[in-house]
Amino acid sequence: MTLQQTLRGAADIVGSLPHARVSPVDLGLALRSAAGGDYHQAQAALEAFASYLDTKAAGSSQWVREWSKPRSRDEVAAELRAASQNRDGRVMAARTQDEIVTRIHAVGETDLFGFRTEVLAAALDFEHVREFLKDGVTETDWHQVTDRENAAREYYQFALGKIRHHRGLSAERSVLKLAEHAWLLGQDDVVAAMDEAPYPPYGAPKVRAFAQGFDLVWPGDAEMTRMAAGEPCTPGCVEGCLR
Ligand SMILES: [Zn+2]
Repeated sequence: MTLQQTLRGAADIVGSLPHARVSPVDLGLALRSAAGGDYHQAQAALEAFASYLDTKAAGSSQWVREWSKPRSRDEVAAELRAASQNRDGRVMAARTQDEIVTRIHAVGETDLFGFRTEVLAAALDFEHVREFLKDGVTETDWHQVTDRENAAREYYQFALGKIRHHRGLSAERSVLKLAEHAWLLGQDDVVAAMDEAPYPPYGAPKVRAFAQGFDLVWPGDAEMTRMAAGEPCTPGCVEGCLR
């Protein structure tokens, strides 16, 4: 049984409860029942649901983790259904706040210019980002990126421009950043595919690996097609492909 099936089953169970408001206990029981009594499956589905909620709005998974007030049955059922319908569970695998903090500490040493840290920190809520901020930055100054899929898509478009216009340093930076976007969305396979792809010219094969991992369109023109394959944009490129 997949997590999606468990979440969908729990959505049906919660949706048919007789009371209009449900508690986290009701949610737990519904997941357990939908998982056929398999505690580990129910727990994994609960974690997936919590991380889905956090991806939508930071900290909103608090409700499922604590003894908290009941919430609207229909809302909870709808959220469970939405979580189950995430394509391939992509969003559900998104990294938690604590995982991101751990990674920032881990990449710190090697992230000389802070490009990777910049992407990672942007996904943190104020409570978690505070240790990395300069003194005096307040909660109202901080703007957390909550729609990570959209941020990744937008950054991909930016990275394409760096390749097309042969911007050496910016292209390097955008490859580093894109890999962190993929990591934030929990897509280790995409990160690995980017690692394995060759770099020249201008990181095009790596960015192409990112695009394939997220089903994003790669530009159809001849230059970008050749670059994605690791070839110069034109056979006689004088702008850097052959250097
Ligand atoms: Zn070129």
